[in-house]
Amino acid sequence: MKRIYLLPIMMLALFEIIAVTLWLTMDNLFYLFNFSYIGGSIALGIFLFLRKHRYARRVTQLLVGLYMLLYLGLICNENMQIEGFWYYLFTGVFEAATIHYAVAKIFGPLLFGRGWCGYACWTAMVLDFLPYKKPAQPRKKLGWIRYITFAVSLFFVAALFLTHVGNLEKIMFWSFLIGNLLYYAVGIGLAFLFKDNRAFCKYICPITVFLKPMSYFSLLRVRCDTSKCISCGKCIQVCPMNVDVMNPSRKRKNGTECILCFECAKSCPKNAL
Ligand code: SF4
Ligand code: SF4
Ligand code: SF4
Repeated sequence: MKRIYLLPIMMLALFEIIAVTLWLTMDNLFYLFNFSYIGGSIALGIFLFLRKHRYARRVTQLLVGLYMLLYLGLICNENMQIEGFWYYLFTGVFEAATIHYAVAKIFGPLLFGRGWCGYACWTAMVLDFLPYKKPAQPRKKLGWIRYITFAVSLFFVAALFLTHVGNLEKIMFWSFLIGNLLYYAVGIGLAFLFKDNRAFCKYICPITVFLKPMSYFSLLRVRCDTSKCISCGKCIQVCPMNVDVMNPSRKRKNGTECILCFECAKSCPKNAL
């Protein structure tokens, strides 16, 4: 079978295994639909990428991001933001948000790194439409802010439980709405301020507290074949996350920031990546 079909089919099969396992173990047909849809969207993106379609990544990002934001978030009232994860974790419910975090953001990155950030996140789905695809300024030393937003999200949900406020489901829905609007406002503002679409991802996003350490060990990663590299630096110029991609080591600068967008590989004149 041609490689162009093999990889998307393998990805679809992986998601189908997750879909069927969760459907049968949780006795809930939703999981079959949910993971089949996400797997199908990712498989389509890989297929388009292998066909060198310019917008392959964006297609998957919109299919998955809009589904999660509009259908799961707004229609099904499922808070998939980090506070939704804490909420379901505290209530001991292993359902959509906790499963989503386990698959996409905690254990999944051991396999596919920060693929979530490149192909599925609904915050980045909007930020990637902004004009600063290549960072116009050097990276700032503001990464510490992510630990504050992470702690705030945890304390917010802990306080709700400790103070025994009622109607938690409704509060979580409104926090999903307000949280998303805030993320978009801050993300768009920072993108224009720093001339960098992904400034929010680099400095503010609390989910990176999970994503960065797990993606360090990722099986899937962009490696540089130093025997082919001519050190032209084109890959570093186009990288939206300032990864020192010419260095093949896991310890390379900003290595855990890679979102697997493959812009570096597309721009490499020597096919070294
Ligand atoms: S860093 Fe956060 S906002 Fe950016 S793509 Fe990843 S999860 Fe989304
Ligand atoms: S350009 Fe390359 S190194 Fe940079 S984020 Fe995309 S895949 Fe990773
Ligand atoms: S674009 Fe390719 S050849 Fe140029 S520095 Fe990067 S890996 Fe090396």
